[in-house]
Amino acid sequence: MLAWLAAHEFMLIGIIWMVVLGPAVGNYACSVVYRLPRGKTPFERHPYCGHCNADLKPIDLFPIGSWLSTRGKCRYCAGAIPGIYTVIEIACGLIFITYFLHFSISESFLLATAYAVFVVILAAIHWQQGWVSASIYSYAFACVALLRVLHEHTIYPTIQGGFIMLLLMLLLNQTSKTRTLSPFEKPWIWWFVLLGALVPLVQWKLLLPVFILKFLLPKEARVILYATAALALPLFI
Ligand SMILES: [Zn+2]
Repeated sequence: MLAWLAAHEFMLIGIIWMVVLGPAVGNYACSVVYRLPRGKTPFERHPYCGHCNADLKPIDLFPIGSWLSTRGKCRYCAGAIPGIYTVIEIACGLIFITYFLHFSISESFLLATAYAVFVVILAAIHWQQGWVSASIYSYAFACVALLRVLHEHTIYPTIQGGFIMLLLMLLLNQTSKTRTLSPFEKPWIWWFVLLGALVPLVQWKLLLPVFILKFLLPKEARVILYATAALALPLFI
């Protein structure tokens, strides 16, 4: 047992770190998800309750734990705190642990986790508001580009993949019935462009299940599909 612990010391300490770090970063991501659509910046003010405006104390800011301890209600006004914020914290925890086990501590890990946090924020805003945040999308895309340049030492494949996917999706959009929206206002197009830039062309068969499920799943569930694909695919490429 002790020998096993000694042999896996780095991994165990790493996992403990990720259990703390992931939800803590997720906690910060929640404030971006809440504030960005309301035109506020994450650094503008200390965390506060969206219902009663009360400043939150450290006891209210514990990832996952605070939400569970008050059963999803504000400690000061009993206003409901949407469960999605706890989902974000749990998702970030799981992502940090999984990526640590896959990438260890490396440049790829740093870029992949940064990318993943932006994807989580993007998906949460898409889920709540129905649109894709251009600024968060650009950050996620930049992380994808850096991640691929790190391994391939050239930026062309990322641009090429994103561009080819954009053309394909615009063609597909021509067959769509909802012509009232401009194609650039349709979140699914942007999700596929991100996936197209992330996954090398020779591995695009990995995107086929995402593409098929897009048509099978109800509209509300598709955000979860895109986010899951965007978060899982870095482990397979
Ligand atoms: Zn409150």
